[in-house]
Amino acid sequence: MANIDPKWGSWKEAPPAVAEDQIVKTIDCDAAVIGAGISGVACALRAAENGLKVVVIEKTEHWNARGGNLGVANSGFMREQGYENDLDELAREWIKRCMSRCDEEVLWRYLRNSENAMDWLIDIITKPEYGARPELQACLYRGETYREQFGSHRFFDGPMAQKGMRPGASDAVYAMYMESLKLGVKYLFKAPAEQLEKKDGRVTSVLAKTSDSYVRIRAEKGVVIATGDIGGNREMCEDLAPMAAWCKKNTYTPKDANTGDGHKMGLWAGGAFEDLPFPIMFHPQGYAFIIYCFLHVDDKGKRFMNEDIHTQAKCVYLARKGMDWAWSILDGAWAEKIPATLPYGGGLFWGLDHGPDAPGFTVPATERLMNFARKGGNLVEADTPEELAEKMGVPADEFVKTLNRYNQMCYAGHDDQFGKRKELMIPLDKPPYYALRFGPAVLVVIGGLKVNADMEVLDENGDPVPGLYAVGNAAAGRYGVDYPMVIPGTSHGTALTLGFVTGDILAGKQVL
Ligand SMILES: Cc1cc2nc3c(=O)[nH]c(=O)nc-3n(C[C@H](O)[C@H](O)[C@H](O)COP(=O)(O)OP(=O)(O)OC[C@H]3O[C@@H](n4cnc5c(N)ncnc54)[C@H](O)[C@@H]3O)c2cc1C
Repeated sequence: MANIDPKWGSWKEAPPAVAEDQIVKTIDCDAAVIGAGISGVACALRAAENGLKVVVIEKTEHWNARGGNLGVANSGFMREQGYENDLDELAREWIKRCMSRCDEEVLWRYLRNSENAMDWLIDIITKPEYGARPELQACLYRGETYREQFGSHRFFDGPMAQKGMRPGASDAVYAMYMESLKLGVKYLFKAPAEQLEKKDGRVTSVLAKTSDSYVRIRAEKGVVIATGDIGGNREMCEDLAPMAAWCKKNTYTPKDANTGDGHKMGLWAGGAFEDLPFPIMFHPQGYAFIIYCFLHVDDKGKRFMNEDIHTQAKCVYLARKGMDWAWSILDGAWAEKIPATLPYGGGLFWGLDHGPDAPGFTVPATERLMNFARKGGNLVEADTPEELAEKMGVPADEFVKTLNRYNQMCYAGHDDQFGKRKELMIPLDKPPYYALRFGPAVLVVIGGLKVNADMEVLDENGDPVPGLYAVGNAAAGRYGVDYPMVIPGTSHGTALTLGFVTGDILAGKQVL
């Protein structure tokens, strides 16, 4: 693929060089990290632990984090509880689900190092000043076809969780940030990086914009792009990840931060992108937070899919069909019917987030989620299928026909339409009836600059752009297809691990 497609928008053009008189200050360091998200802060802290002088440049006024689960291949904490993944099996499954579109060397860099990265993070986050409690998450798809493995970690009761933030990544990033301050890492906030500078073919510095001038951060050992994804840049999404542009809902935060700046700077500096379209991480977070696997119908009241598939794939399927949302139908016996499905499927938005020893389903927690959906206009209920159809705004005759046919197939124990497993063919025949609205929302776009396993940005010939690294969602290679859920939470897990590893690589340490 040519490095730059002439059809892309104006974002592909490098801006003119910044005039020297606009650069009011130069800071010298060993490593400059662009972006204080999970991958950038992990990289900065690790590099500082290795004795490097590190400067982090951040566009917003603080570090950033979101979401709950951090997925790794193994950890000491997992092993203590008797869980251990076989890396060879994980790799084979990952490659299979990615249809070989991931980069196996990058994948193995993650698999071999994620245990060390998670153990390192747990040592930090459980220090008395942070006091967070790690928990292994057992909300997994259990069926064979899309089986998910243990490895998703979450942190509870930490300082950010106590402030009301979602427990998980925020405490991790906060603790790493605080530790990095202790080691003298310097953060420039409200200082968006705008351009990279090269000397004799090597990236030597980055220019960050402050209020009305620029700061040059000169980095002896390398500049690390950790600017997250392109989800906040519509033009780039149209060119590089069209489904992210079509999708009506986008839940990424903070708004206007992740606008593909690092992707652009890397491209202008000679880096190449991975094959298009970029993969996307979708969840149904813009609508109901629960979906299940009974009967799904479209806006015509018709069934359109095998409902037994993991959340991410369900969202991709809807997005590819151009559907903003669909309806998931339950009946009055949901409290018995949902748990009956969990041994065969489950996972995010189907089961509940829970630790291995906690129940995978409770009525009060499910009622809370249903109430949340009801308040958001994403749950309607009625005593009859006809009334339910009216509330859903779908043709009643078609919906009743669909429901009757579905129930007949359930009684007969075979899905003649889409081949859903017989264990999940559970009739919906006990009033009242419920319809949950679910649909794809873009979380992040997970494609970026080509990198090798040392996280060096590669040019279109596959050669490193000297002095330039990329991690997190700015980097390619981890997936190649839309977020395969081999272990839940690997978007954070790979960002953490590969950021951590890059902190070692910059210091010239051998890595696994
Ligand atoms: C609502 C939501 C929930 C999620 N939940 C999960 C989950 O549970 N598990 C999971 O694995 N993943 C989850 N994700 C995805 C995950 O949050 C991201 O994939 C992950 O944060 C990516 O890390 P990163 O370091 O690449 O980028 P980010 O964490 O996005 O950080 C990028 C940083 O770079 C800064 N930046 C951008 N441009 C510039 C610039 N020009 N100069 C300086 N700084 C810049 C940004 O302000 C930001 O601070 C979720 C995403 C969303 C939106």
